[in-house]
Amino acid sequence: MPMGTYRVSPRGQGPRHSLWSLSESSVKEEEGEEDEGARRCLTPFEKLTTDMCRDEKTIKELTVGRRVGFYKVRGEIGAGTFSKVKLAFHALTKDKVAIKILDKTRLDLQAQRLLSREISTMESLQHPNVLRLYEVVETPSRLHLVLEYAGGGDLYTRITTEGRLHDALSKIVFAQVLSAMKHLHDNNIIHRDLKAENVLFTCQACVKVADFGFSTKVKSRSEILDTFCGSPPYAAPELFRDESYLGPAVDTWAMGVLLFFMVTGTMPFRADTVVRLRRCVLEGTYSLPTWVSAPCQRLIRGILRMDPSERCALDQMLGCEWLLPVEITRPLPPFQLNPRYLAEAGPGELEEEEEEVKAALEQLGITSEHIINNQGKGSRSPITGVYRILLHQGQRKRGVETPPMIRGVVKDPKRDSLRAYRSLRHTSKLCILA
Ligand code: AMP
Repeated sequence: MPMGTYRVSPRGQGPRHSLWSLSESSVKEEEGEEDEGARRCLTPFEKLTTDMCRDEKTIKELTVGRRVGFYKVRGEIGAGTFSKVKLAFHALTKDKVAIKILDKTRLDLQAQRLLSREISTMESLQHPNVLRLYEVVETPSRLHLVLEYAGGGDLYTRITTEGRLHDALSKIVFAQVLSAMKHLHDNNIIHRDLKAENVLFTCQACVKVADFGFSTKVKSRSEILDTFCGSPPYAAPELFRDESYLGPAVDTWAMGVLLFFMVTGTMPFRADTVVRLRRCVLEGTYSLPTWVSAPCQRLIRGILRMDPSERCALDQMLGCEWLLPVEITRPLPPFQLNPRYLAEAGPGELEEEEEEVKAALEQLGITSEHIINNQGKGSRSPITGVYRILLHQGQRKRGVETPPMIRGVVKDPKRDSLRAYRSLRHTSKLCILA
């Protein structure tokens, strides 16, 4: 068995969908209004959709994959088992994005199911430490997931090239992952593939949990699961025992392995084959270097318990001494993923930031009429893509993704623990006093 992430074998065809419905209709409208068009300046949106149908260079770029929908594609920035990830720029907003490209001929039914789960999971989570999905673009041969760009690389590469994280950065990163995972579990979503490769840096200290390909939605947190997925070095003992398992406890174990890796730069359970790794994990013995602080050691030992029912729960982690006092990042106030409400709102009904997004769309030439005419496509609409990018730009400008800070010294861990836990509901920034 290979040591990498386990995935299903891809093959088969996905449903066909045309991105072109928008640009074709826009162009038809423009053809009918050619005289008028010649007289007035085209908006950026009109120019782009016209170029996509008429400009030879743009059409060639679309044909060879240098452009995907409204995005200009640049070099490769990563690769998964069945996907390539490329850097791209949105032609209208100029924002950088990451495009995960999947070959449809290699996606069998199971892989298609996982992909649609990945999309629905990302769309159901609204958290500053969860990677955003802007748009899905489908061409006859490929599927493209247009994602928020995380320019700081992944945690695995950071640690393997620069060594373990110092204690303060470990706290900041772990607290963000913890906050994101709590948001997932609160929404009955289990990640099932949490590992350092799937924690991406958007800046020096700000991280996003990514890759929801193995995620699953459970009816309740006590629902029993039985599909083994994820990466063996992060797999909980119950997975190696081929038992059915509880999703939250399996994610929690992976968080323990991740924390161990962050503070030591090594993995708690190491072996050169999966059989030996299984033995190691089932024995449950690992050694923590003495230079790892005592509160952090206690947290790791509390998480890496063989019995899932004894494993430290996320709420306990939030109040643990090592992370005290933590003002954990709050989930974002719910926002609309579909811009329709902008077109339907009456005067004075929109919040200030929503007015700003609407104005920015209009500046690009995207009117309420375009939004209404483009309904029913959800994330498969380029208008939705522009909207989500502009919305995210506005939220970032308002500081919802400000990196966490460490300040001061903890004097009264017990009192601060309670405050930290309460603050989960009342604060919007993550801030750790160490
Ligand atoms: P994945 O297919 O999701 O496992 O991604 C493979 C690799 O591509 C990751 O390990 C990252 O290095 C890179 N990558 C994936 N998504 C992004 C993103 N949104 N921003 C930057 N790099 C990414």
